[in-house]
Amino acid sequence: MPPLSFDAAQQKILEYATPLSAESVPLANLVGRVLAEDICAPVDLPRWDNSEMDGFAVQAADCQPLAQLKVTGYIPAGATAEGVTVVAGAAVRIMTGAPIPAGCDAIVPIENTDGGQETVTIQQAVCSGDFIRYRGSDIAVGERILKAGTVLRPAEVNLLAAFSLVTAPVFRQPTVAILSTGDELVAPGENPAAGQIIDSNSYSLAAAVREMGAIPQILGIARDNRESLTEKISAGLTADVLITSAGISAGDRDFVREILEQTGVRQLFWKVAIKPGGPTAFSLNGVKLVFSVPGNPVSSMITFEQLIRPALLKMMGRCDIFRPLEQATVQGILRNETNKTRFLRVKVEKTAAGLVAESAGDQNTGILSTMLHANAIAILSPDQGELNDGDNVSVQLLQPL
Ligand code: AMP
Ligand code: MG
Repeated sequence: MPPLSFDAAQQKILEYATPLSAESVPLANLVGRVLAEDICAPVDLPRWDNSEMDGFAVQAADCQPLAQLKVTGYIPAGATAEGVTVVAGAAVRIMTGAPIPAGCDAIVPIENTDGGQETVTIQQAVCSGDFIRYRGSDIAVGERILKAGTVLRPAEVNLLAAFSLVTAPVFRQPTVAILSTGDELVAPGENPAAGQIIDSNSYSLAAAVREMGAIPQILGIARDNRESLTEKISAGLTADVLITSAGISAGDRDFVREILEQTGVRQLFWKVAIKPGGPTAFSLNGVKLVFSVPGNPVSSMITFEQLIRPALLKMMGRCDIFRPLEQATVQGILRNETNKTRFLRVKVEKTAAGLVAESAGDQNTGILSTMLHANAIAILSPDQGELNDGDNVSVQLLQPL
């Protein structure tokens, strides 16, 4: 099977990445979650006409400057206006948020009066309707105020709470099992013997999964033998998504694909025309997705970014699954020495003339530090060859500029 183009691979994955079921989550844990159903206002907001200010409930027609009104009542916050009426020539002291009494058509803020207790002197005229928040003027009952797919921010959580809801239906977050494979690997914290490599991929992948809002499950290290891989892969297949790293190239101990097949996982592709990340496999275990990424740390991070992250976001119900793609002007040289889609780690800066992109360092996939200096990925198409000073390049922003 020839390698799939980047677009074809991405499309194939997204075809099978579908939003997970909804779950009911309490208010306190909703921020960042994605609403699974439309929410219509169950009540008017505000629920009743109420005062926008501390002051006096009046009839606006009475309120010429220096008019004196008799104070006939008091409605503090939390009280009802039942039985209270504002008659001509009178005023009722009222607190912010308290319900508007019968007969009142305006509020005079306390600072526009002498603050009198028995009689109050009005210092500034008001118009009918002034400083009254009318029932439903913010949100009317029945209004479809939040749409499915909305990422909940504090403002949306406030609204849900204001409707007196205690939970909201949101898409489940995928659990993502992460398995590193390789005889050479030891866990961070250990002192590697000659030839041993620290398993850093488990942690960068888990960090990337957590950062985008899914739930990582680190499985540890499987050794390059059939027993170890079978055991760990079987454990990983209980998650919504399994990501394995390493062991899928052409090495004589690269068993990952073979073991996946034996555990009943159906492989859809195992090579993509991209660099880095070419030997990436995508398989299905029923409706669950299995990604096998190369072991090289830079390759595994870039493959996650390009092929896995959008799929996980789609599973979480997100509509905006891709990083923002912008056009930038090249500074220096950006080279695609392959006939594949080439991802280059770049530094993008905002200038008066627009975005400028330059290489973040050595593009060899063995160089981890270039990743640290990059804030974007330049995407060069298979035929793009070499770009020079002043050329245009597509850049995918990894963080806001
Ligand atoms: P492989 O895909 O098995 O050929 O591995 C490619 C390179 O990535 C080798 O140098 C491995 O030692 C390295 N590597 C594999 N797995 C990991 C890992 N979990 N963390 C860091 N480096 C790894
Ligand atoms: Mg290996």
